[in-house]
Amino acid sequence: MPAYDFRCKRCENKFTVRISISERDKVRCPECDSSSVQQLFTPFAVTVKSGDSHSCDLSCGSKTKFG
Ligand SMILES: [Zn+2]
Repeated sequence: MPAYDFRCKRCENKFTVRISISERDKVRCPECDSSSVQQLFTPFAVTVKSGDSHSCDLSCGSKTKFG
């Protein structure tokens, strides 16, 4: 069962619950029992990087002509 991170809008409590995806709207804060919670989307696999880096460790301008 997947785990979701939530933050309570009332008491700012952050908590993680393990529920099925259909029960996400029924989540209540365990601290103040408020139903106004906001789901936090944690990036699991962020692979997008800004900027480009060329990897040329083998033959990047290192070949010179001999004879
Ligand atoms: Zn709360």
